[in-house]
Amino acid sequence: MKSSKVKILLIYTGGTIGMVKDFKTGALKSFDFKTLLDQIPELKLLDCDIDTVSFEEPIDSSNMNIDSWVQIAELIEDQYDDFDGFVVLHGSDTMSYSASALSFMLENLGKPVVFTGSQLPIGDLRTDAKENLITSIQVASLQTKGKPDIQEVCLYFEYKLYRANRTTKLNAEDFQAFSSFNYHDLAESGVHLKVNYEYLFKPNTRKKLKVHKKLDNNIALIKVYPGITEAVIQSIFQTPNLKAVIIESYGAGNCTTESWFLNILTENISKGIHIINITQCVGGSVMMGHYETSSALKNIGVISGKDITTEAALGKLMFLLGQEIPGNRFKTMYETPLRGELS
Ligand code: ASP
Repeated sequence: MKSSKVKILLIYTGGTIGMVKDFKTGALKSFDFKTLLDQIPELKLLDCDIDTVSFEEPIDSSNMNIDSWVQIAELIEDQYDDFDGFVVLHGSDTMSYSASALSFMLENLGKPVVFTGSQLPIGDLRTDAKENLITSIQVASLQTKGKPDIQEVCLYFEYKLYRANRTTKLNAEDFQAFSSFNYHDLAESGVHLKVNYEYLFKPNTRKKLKVHKKLDNNIALIKVYPGITEAVIQSIFQTPNLKAVIIESYGAGNCTTESWFLNILTENISKGIHIINITQCVGGSVMMGHYETSSALKNIGVISGKDITTEAALGKLMFLLGQEIPGNRFKTMYETPLRGELS
């Protein structure tokens, strides 16, 4: 008989959550997914059916790349109709990058995709893995009148559910490793699971899921700093096949006004290279023209990333370049929120 319970697919990609200590070297490395499930008998107590699928070779998330993102997207696409929600177990180091990219790759997503992981392995006595995993599954199971409450890519960590493309990993020590400075938490787990329904993404549910697998990584990211040299900037712009550059500027989008810097940017924009201005600050927004040190950037046609995170800025850029959006529409599309990634 077909079960009427909510069906959740658990996708294991790797990360600390499923790691063990190599007894010779003492270094943490990934281990078999089956063993992971044996470590959490509590999963059987949840009021949902859980199925699992694993990367053939689980990886430390430092080895994530665009092929791995396509792999995650395909696992979701292949099983989309058979499950009500998806929980992706992923290393915390690049979780915000992967989850942000997936938010762009999964257009018209109508079901929850919750990324989670942990700071300590699941077998560790003081592990944060169990709570993160169990609550992620509960969040992904939330339904009202048979429809999923959450219809977007999220990240759950240490009692908080965030919009994935608003998150950044900020702490390598605390259990509370992530933060979302420019957007409200989507839910908080205390004695009760409190969902902030007004902040959830409302997709167009009449449209079918469209999975985008073409990402273009011919891009570069420059974090400016006082003393940065012309040679450094020039060498980045000389990268073969370069299509776009993200500049992490100061504060509200400010950069040096030295003429060599502005000349390089102007020259490259005229060659069709997209240049995006995002801020190094974890909170707040780029406002080009607010200070004199950003007015020139605005005038030469630099794109504003507004209050986007670096992680989402990269994912959005690879996604839009993959779509081969013509030059004149590119700026408008980049500056428009597609998945709630900017205000
Ligand atoms: N290095 C690990 C990873 O990102 C850290 C973690 O999982 O928290 O895969």
